[in-house]
Amino acid sequence: MQSTTVTSGWDFAVELRSDPASAEARSAILAKPAFGQSFTDHMVMANWTDDRGWHDPKVTAFAPLSVSPAAAVLHYTQEIFEGLKAYRHADGSVWAFRPDRNATRFVKSAERLALPVVPEDAFISALRALVTVDEPWVPSAEDGETSLYLRPYMIATEAALSVRPSREVLFGVIASPAGPYFDTGPKPVSIWLTTSTVRATPGGTGAAKCGGNYAASLAGLAEAVANGCEQVAFVDAAEHKWLEEIGSMNMFFVYADGRIATPELNGSILEGVTRSSVLELAADLGHEVEERRISADEWKDGVRTGEITEVFASGTAAVVTPIGRVAWPDGDLTIGDHSVDHGVGPITRSIRTTLLDLQYGRTPDTRGWLTRLV
Ligand SMILES: *Cc1c(COP(=O)(O)O)cnc(C)c1O
Repeated sequence: MQSTTVTSGWDFAVELRSDPASAEARSAILAKPAFGQSFTDHMVMANWTDDRGWHDPKVTAFAPLSVSPAAAVLHYTQEIFEGLKAYRHADGSVWAFRPDRNATRFVKSAERLALPVVPEDAFISALRALVTVDEPWVPSAEDGETSLYLRPYMIATEAALSVRPSREVLFGVIASPAGPYFDTGPKPVSIWLTTSTVRATPGGTGAAKCGGNYAASLAGLAEAVANGCEQVAFVDAAEHKWLEEIGSMNMFFVYADGRIATPELNGSILEGVTRSSVLELAADLGHEVEERRISADEWKDGVRTGEITEVFASGTAAVVTPIGRVAWPDGDLTIGDHSVDHGVGPITRSIRTTLLDLQYGRTPDTRGWLTRLV
């Protein structure tokens, strides 16, 4: 299959800023990018109103937005977002990994949050427009796991406190250079298994990528940190029994017989692009893969008996992250052998490497998962 090149979409006006970062300032940021803290010189903006539809798509200087304090997003969280990366390959070209998936998910999220739809080709053209202008901000291929993180978003900007879908909306894309999630290679993280809060409910917005889900997850994260853990895992809202996901990542279990299982999509789990990719790549690597209900008890018992040998989380930002410990109010278990290979299990490592090699163009893209941006 051939790599896809999409050339349709919106036509973006380009307003280059007169005061871009100097080459020295940019190199200093690219030498050690902290996730989501520095942004490129430009950003994408497009406006929507119910009478005109989408209009004025442009690439313009990265700058604060001006919105009314009465803007609907500030009160009722009518907001969605996406997250994906632009990867520099050895020949200098810049690629996105399965951006069509993010575009489709952005449409679904918009529908769930009663926001207008950005057509999929327009979404991809927005990424290309920004990365073309800010191409020097894409880290070089030699820097290992560095990339340019792209954050499309949509917010309800109408100044109106009545509760109804906003008649004015802003779509934007910002970009932030991203270093490796772990400075010294992947390290196992600790997870707090909470049953005191849930992040999503049946019929709710769990399957949409919206800010409200994140707001709902923060108390659980604070509880995890208060209990000495780095991340939080949530169970389902109805029975408080079935594993759903970790704050912003999907979860996977590796069994002693080589099987790999992940919680099945139930309407309140976010369908990660990394999750879908891991399922396909793990099958290629010879693993039997399962999408099914997995209980918190199965996790605890499996680790205790040795039936579960590795646990990992998946998401664009951290790629594939090993989980080395799970704790809950009356228990605490270590997962895997922390004396070997920094506690990163061999199967977690092979899946992680397979995915990264594909994203950085070090292995052939046989599925057409890469889209060239620049
Ligand atoms: C974005 C996100 C993920 C990971 O999705 P990817 O497409 O793999 O980055 C997982 N869970 C939640 C809640 C998310 O918002």
